[in-house]
Amino acid sequence: MTRMETCLQLFNQMQGAKLRAHAAVNRVYSQYREQYQDWRQTPEARQLIEQQLQKLGDICPVCQRGLAVSNSTIDHLEPKRNHISKTLCQENMLVMCWRCNTQKGTLPFTLWRHQLHPFRQQSLDYAIMQIHGEAKLAELLAPNTLQ
Ligand SMILES: [Zn+2]
Repeated sequence: MTRMETCLQLFNQMQGAKLRAHAAVNRVYSQYREQYQDWRQTPEARQLIEQQLQKLGDICPVCQRGLAVSNSTIDHLEPKRNHISKTLCQENMLVMCWRCNTQKGTLPFTLWRHQLHPFRQQSLDYAIMQIHGEAKLAELLAPNTLQ
């Protein structure tokens, strides 16, 4: 076997290992996603929405439009994409309207918040404090948070 062939063989082995690692990581990600989809159908999820809406006075914490259980969505403050382990963490969940949740998309929390009008930033901060406490808000706003 020539040196070139040996190099190629090594390269292919490395590529194979990389692909297997990616596949393993994706399996973990889809497990989280499936677990979340299952959880979302449980009475516990409905209860979370009801409890948060009650604290918020039945309005979206971002745009202040009226919100009911039937048209509420659950946002992950720290997006699932970058914080897969927080997918099922209720401390990371905030009820909001479909429109606001869609606008946020997969943006990291601080980046999304920065784009909001200052009044909306304030109501969001207040809602997070009311629902998850001051420490959670401070954690989300920390400049060194890896997002
Ligand atoms: Zn909204």
